Amino acid sequence: MSYLSNIYNGITGKYFLNSRKGAITQQYPDNRATLKMFDRFRGEVIMPHDEQNEHTCTGCQKCEIACPNGTIEIIWDRAIVEETGKKKKKIDQFVYHLGLCTMCGLCIDVCPTDAIIWGQNFENSVYDRTKLTRVLNKPGSVVKAGIED
Ligand code: SF4
Ligand code: SF4
Repeated sequence: MSYLSNIYNGITGKYFLNSRKGAITQQYPDNRATLKMFDRFRGEVIMPHDEQNEHTCTGCQKCEIACPNGTIEIIWDRAIVEETGKKKKKIDQFVYHLGLCTMCGLCIDVCPTDAIIWGQNFENSVYDRTKLTRVLNKPGSVVKAGIED
């Protein structure tokens, strides 16, 4: 088979013929408002919160222990649970150093309550590295009732 027919019949040829249908090039940054990364994209670790400003992080520190390079620091405290009157561990700050993160996913895999997930944001360029250190739990947020590790 000739070189040209290889191109025509193979993936290169298909993409060449479909390029005008958007098969290849994303018009970034012009399409910033509508751009959606593919589902498995690993942009950063994030902690979802619901409308009541609740998350599912118990502060168990499993993610911190699993992380191979110290990207996560759990600063925790103990608070009294109203129903039982007993003290229980809670996070004060979930500190995430994005500049250290290799996106290996061990922290997400090990979390027993699915408190952290992959975020799709990739526009993380900064002039000041300290801006890559973030607190993932929002101010005033609490762990959802009934979540145990
Ligand atoms: S994110 Fe998950 S593994 Fe990490 S401290 Fe919170 S509950 Fe534990
Ligand atoms: S993805 Fe890997 S490197 Fe990044 S915080 Fe999680 S365990 Fe650490």
